[in-house]
Amino acid sequence: MKAGTALNTRLDHRNPLVFDTHELGRRPGAMQRLSREIAAPADLGLAGVIGVPEGAPLKLKLRLEAVMEGVLVTGTARASAVGECVRCLESVERELKADFQEMFSYPDADDRSRSKAEPADDAEDDEDTLFLEDGLFDLEPVLRDVVVLALPLQPVCREDCLGLCPDCGLSLNDDPDHHHDAVDIRWAALQGLVTDQGDEKDNMSGTASDGVQGAAEKQEK
Ligand SMILES: [Zn+2]
Ligand SMILES: [Zn+2]
Repeated sequence: MKAGTALNTRLDHRNPLVFDTHELGRRPGAMQRLSREIAAPADLGLAGVIGVPEGAPLKLKLRLEAVMEGVLVTGTARASAVGECVRCLESVERELKADFQEMFSYPDADDRSRSKAEPADDAEDDEDTLFLEDGLFDLEPVLRDVVVLALPLQPVCREDCLGLCPDCGLSLNDDPDHHHDAVDIRWAALQGLVTDQGDEKDNMSGTASDGVQGAAEKQEK
């Protein structure tokens, strides 16, 4: 049983992402606002793409609201996320703002709400139901989910980032006119070939001997 497993892990009130709801006293309608600045936990974000560095300041604003079956938590998390531009690989910094709302149920309230809920919904709900543990709740899983959702999957340093030259890797943002002359030389050679063929055709339209002479003259040059 998932709920049972969750209840066995005792929450540590010293964990900065664990919050205490005792002040609400299980009185529906009671409300409490709190803000807390914490050091970001490790691996907060999209691994290898963009995330909040471990230990970076993370500001949390929460509103705890007691309802019949538990505590409804509404809040906002703010932090700076750091990553890498997917086009030019420059570092990217994004101000992150993630809103969330989550219900933490009283462990004993689960049975009451279960009897009211439709059986079909219940199976699915069980997976996602978060519970209060001795009046405490752990915001970490909620925070992790919303932070990932709030971050760009493909961060760019700016919308019109030109990326890197596919041939040499130079940042085209530094030199938008950057190009490779080697390519131009090849084209020039091809163009020269076309011109030569044109000449030959012209020669051929003359007398046969002139044409041979013309070609010979060309080779001497
Ligand atoms: Zn870029
Ligand atoms: Zn290049």
